[in-house]
Amino acid sequence: MPRSLRGRTGSPPLQIAPRYERSSPRKRGYTGAWDKASAGYRRKHPFCAWCAQQGRITLCEVVDHKIPIVDGGEMFDRSIWWGLCRPHHDLKGQMETFARKTGQVQMLPIWCDEPDKRPAKFSSGLPGRG
Ligand SMILES: [Zn+2]
Repeated sequence: MPRSLRGRTGSPPLQIAPRYERSSPRKRGYTGAWDKASAGYRRKHPFCAWCAQQGRITLCEVVDHKIPIVDGGEMFDRSIWWGLCRPHHDLKGQMETFARKTGQVQMLPIWCDEPDKRPAKFSSGLPGRG
């Protein structure tokens, strides 16, 4: 059986379509300057702030903005930075979604700093661990 690739010019060359990520970090303004600044912050604050509130010591993996950039937080305003472990960064993301849905975005920094004031479902533990 002859293998022919000829006569198939009708189809356009395969193109790798650009992937439009919902919002890539770079597009959200997380530049090289951010990488440097956040790395410096993590050197000074190496542990997850949320874990620390719960009496645990866990390495910080992400520098998070208590007020998300998309909600008006300033990228380089260190007063709204805190370092989080991955599970707590995920939980913070859920807290942001909850805050947006309930019109309480302005409460986020308070919820971050004062665990007692958080909505009950964010007040204790890690996601999926009770
Ligand atoms: Zn943590």
